[in-house]
Amino acid sequence: MKRRGTIYIVSAPSGAGKSTLCRELLKVYPDITYSISHTTRAPREGEVPGVDYHFISREGFESRIAQGLMAEWAEVHGNYYGTSLETLEASVSKGVDVLLDIDVQGARQMCAAVPSCVTLFIMPPSEAELRARLEKRGTDSRETIEKRMENAAGEMAQRSFYAHVIVNDELNEAVAVLVAVVKECREGGIS
Ligand code: 5GP
Repeated sequence: MKRRGTIYIVSAPSGAGKSTLCRELLKVYPDITYSISHTTRAPREGEVPGVDYHFISREGFESRIAQGLMAEWAEVHGNYYGTSLETLEASVSKGVDVLLDIDVQGARQMCAAVPSCVTLFIMPPSEAELRARLEKRGTDSRETIEKRMENAAGEMAQRSFYAHVIVNDELNEAVAVLVAVVKECREGGIS
């Protein structure tokens, strides 16, 4: 029987540098497919539909949930986010490894359904640094930043759920640790 692809789950409070880390990981392992989530949030400047996210309406998302089309989903910062079951299964059934950038609620759902998922949590070096990064990004309103800070504390409190916790203080070091974890998993060492 064909080997099923491994599902790598990366979670982090927004502003911890997760997108950059995921991009760097995919440069090292271009055969890993990045799972493009569905969301009801509005695109940020520079985000491309179908590349960063599939941007859909609340009605559209709720209909997808009702039809059982989502492998996992969650409401984060007042918007729905989720992973398409069909797209995920299309990769995994072909033996292709998939990277999911999802929140803690989604990670728990995925692991309940697929216990072999490899879970990684990215921590910012400190709360102050996280706030500074969110403010520097300049894409979110003050209210959104406060919501994200609150959510971050809740997410960080659940990091022990993850098999691997990486502190993103110095980017190159964090990338090296992330790559090392994936390398070990691929060589059959850890999960
Ligand atoms: P952002 O709005 O900053 O792109 O993402 C906000 C949060 O939603 C992040 O924690 C991100 O990991 C999470 N997220 C993105 N896509 C998904 C998804 O498909 N499922 C779940 N559960 N969370 C997601």
